[in-house]
Amino acid sequence: MKNDRRRLVACTGVLLVSGLATASGSEPAYRLEKVADGVYCATSSETAYYVTNSAIVVGDEAVLVVDSGASPSGARRLIDAVRTVSDRPVRYVVDTHFHFDHAFGNAAFGPETVLMAHEATRKLLGPEALRGRTYRGFADGIPARVEQLRTQAAAEPAPEKRREIAAQADVLDAYGRELATITLVAPRVAFSERAVVDLGNREVQLVYVGRGHTAGDALVLLPRERVLCSGDFFNGYVGYMGDAYVDEWADSLDRLSQLDFETVVAGHGAPFKGKARIAPVQACLRDLWRQAVDLRRAGVPAEQAARRIDLRAHAAHFPTLAETGFNPVAVRRIYAVLDEREARR
Ligand SMILES: [Zn+2]
Repeated sequence: MKNDRRRLVACTGVLLVSGLATASGSEPAYRLEKVADGVYCATSSETAYYVTNSAIVVGDEAVLVVDSGASPSGARRLIDAVRTVSDRPVRYVVDTHFHFDHAFGNAAFGPETVLMAHEATRKLLGPEALRGRTYRGFADGIPARVEQLRTQAAAEPAPEKRREIAAQADVLDAYGRELATITLVAPRVAFSERAVVDLGNREVQLVYVGRGHTAGDALVLLPRERVLCSGDFFNGYVGYMGDAYVDEWADSLDRLSQLDFETVVAGHGAPFKGKARIAPVQACLRDLWRQAVDLRRAGVPAEQAARRIDLRAHAAHFPTLAETGFNPVAVRRIYAVLDEREARR
C-alpha cells in the first residue's frame, strides 16, 4: 500500500490529498509536491487567505514534519497527508519560527512526537505568543475581513465567483473560531547552533545561522539530498518583517549561502533551486535598513518614513518594489529595534 502510494506520487509529481473536501468545497486540502525521494513540500490554503508550506521528510524509521501549520485542525489534515506517503510515525516536528501560520498546529501532535525548535522560538511560543503583534495583527482583523468577504459575496453577480468568496468567508470564520479556543503547545526540545536527527537512513540537520526573520529561525537541511527547508528566513523574496532583525538578517544570509543545498522548500511559495536569490534579498534588506536609519536620524516619524523609503533600485528582482514606499510594519519594526538598542546603551 505504502509503495503503491509512493509510486502514485512519483508519477504525478503533485498529489492532491483528496477526500477532504466538503460538499461546499470550502475545506482546504493539502497538496504534496515531491522535491526528492521521500521529501515533500506540503502546501495548504489553510484560511483561503494566505498559503503556507510545511515539509514532510520520510525516513525508514520515522517521519519528520517541518512546520505544523496554522491550526490544530489543519495539522490533522497535514497528518492525513503524511499517511498518503508513509506509514511511519511522525516522530518529530520542527517549528522553523514562532509565527502562527507555521507553529499553531503543534497541539495536533501527541506526546509520541518530539516538537523541536531553536531556543528563542521555544520561548516565543509560550503563552505570550497569543499577545504578539504579528498574531494579534492577523487574528484581530478576522471578523472584519469575514464581514467584508460576505458583503463582497452578496454583491457578486457571477454565481460561481459568489460561492467561492462565500466559501472563503466560511473558512476564515471557522479559523477565527478555532483560534479563539486554541491550545498552544511550545516545542519540548530546543537547540542553539546545530542538531542532528536520524530518521533511519535519512539524516536531518537543524541549523541556526543567526537572527533574521525572527529571533529564532531554524533551518532544516537534508545534506544527502541537498534540500533546505528555510521557513520564512529565506523565501527568495523580501518578506514580512514585523518581528525581524533587518540588518542582522542580511548578515545571517551570508552564513546561509555557505550551506550546501540546491533545492529550497520555503515557508511560502513554490519550491525553487539554487542560491541566486540570496544576494538580491540581502542588497534590499541592507538598503532598507540604511534608508530607515537615516530617516529616523533626521527625525522623520516611522509612518512618514515608510512612505519615503525608495527601493525601486531593486524592482528588477522584486516587482512589488516598483513604487516608492514600503510596508509601515517593517519600518516601525526597524525603529523599534533601534530604540531598543539605544535604550540598552
Ligand atoms: Zn513568518
